[in-house]
Amino acid sequence: MSIPEPWSPSSWKSKPIAQDVAYEDPAHLAKVLSKIERLPGMVTPSEIERLRHQLAMVQRNEAFLLHAGDCAESFDACTHENLSNKIGLILSFSLILIWGARRPVVRIGRIAGQYAKPRSSPKEVIDGKEVLSFRGDNVNGLDPNDRTPNPERLLSAYFHSTTTLNHVRGLLTSGFASLHHPRDWSLNHVRSPSLRKEFENIVDNLSDALDFSRTIGVESGPAFEKGGARGTVGEVDFYTSHEGLMLEYEQALTRLLPIPAGISVPSASGNKTYYNTSAHFLWIGDRTRQLTHAHVEYFRGIRNPIGVKVGPSMKGEELVRLLGIVNPEKEGGRVTLITRYGAGKVAEFLKGHIQAVQESGHPVVWVCDPMHGNTLTSSTGLKTRNFGTIISELTSSLRIHAQCNSRLGGVSLEFTGELADDGFSVTECLGGSMELSEDELGLRYQSFCDPRLNFEQSLDVAFLISNYFKN
Ligand code: PEP
Ligand code: MN
Repeated sequence: MSIPEPWSPSSWKSKPIAQDVAYEDPAHLAKVLSKIERLPGMVTPSEIERLRHQLAMVQRNEAFLLHAGDCAESFDACTHENLSNKIGLILSFSLILIWGARRPVVRIGRIAGQYAKPRSSPKEVIDGKEVLSFRGDNVNGLDPNDRTPNPERLLSAYFHSTTTLNHVRGLLTSGFASLHHPRDWSLNHVRSPSLRKEFENIVDNLSDALDFSRTIGVESGPAFEKGGARGTVGEVDFYTSHEGLMLEYEQALTRLLPIPAGISVPSASGNKTYYNTSAHFLWIGDRTRQLTHAHVEYFRGIRNPIGVKVGPSMKGEELVRLLGIVNPEKEGGRVTLITRYGAGKVAEFLKGHIQAVQESGHPVVWVCDPMHGNTLTSSTGLKTRNFGTIISELTSSLRIHAQCNSRLGGVSLEFTGELADDGFSVTECLGGSMELSEDELGLRYQSFCDPRLNFEQSLDVAFLISNYFKN
């Protein structure tokens, strides 16, 4: 085995890079980055280590992972209402899982930093004019006249992330997440009566159980306390994540910090190691996971738990080599594989990937992303996804894992609790128990990136998973 080259937060710069952003003024970029380097980190080593610990529990079948949020956040959507609706949906979804599947749920939001987007083409034609593609609010503007990458947007991304995280931390420590008030998480716009009833049943049963516990004097402590992993943000654990695409930004927030007491880090030479303090969890996208390229190089050196998107073009031996690079010590909780093949391809690829990883002895958490392989264009030209194919990829994944003596540890979803101005849920994906049709898609289509499941369609998915694990 060859000895790995030394790593540093900037060693990725000597490698080829996919999805690079070309800035016109490098001095301006350098100035912004040096400012970000001096700003405080957003998350702490002990929170990051706690998430690693909890992901190791997911891998051992002791908990379930919910990774969810928008395809891309926007600066404009950073409002009290949007963030509260988002957190409300994540809490409702996890309550259904906890209640039905009777296991703790690790919640990681695609939130507080999910701004950058990889694109299939660097340019696009709008109204007959060729412009640079929109790369996310931290790079350029959605407006076709504002497509030149502007470094100031990285700083704005930092501040929008901190504002978001501050609001989320506040919400979760102020009783919003309390199991005594799940109705506050907003069910008003769920139009299917059976779905409402199912959720309300859980809430009623839960209230009874809580009353009973209170009567007999049992304390209701956090579900993870037993594992030495206490809540991150008050009453419930909640973690942040984004795709680690803009490596200059990630590097600026990578800090050499003391390793919390009781944690052993095999690769560390002293009592410090490199943490990426921009989020608890970062993932490598399907377009930037080349073994010898910059993103994999950057990711191998950070201590955070990481995700790797795995699509149909990944070869089994390539996947095992990638695991060898980012997790040479085969540590549990370090790598989550997020598979995204499409309903029509999952049967062809998942089994081979599971078997290759099993033979390698690498511990991983397997997560199904049933969104990204199932995107289509509606007859009216809108980018959409069909609820049926999302469920089909998810149920196939559950079945294939069971057949391979493996286990699906979680789901990765693009969903939103966001409401349109008229107070109704967005209409971006087809089907679900609300039976959203093609002509309804245009009514409240708000995503400027990938289509998201709305509140009601998301609860449908939660019940499906919860029922699977109940049986
Ligand atoms: C995403 O998660 O929004 C995304 C772009 O996914 P992928 O890298 O799997 O295409
Ligand atoms: Mn997406």
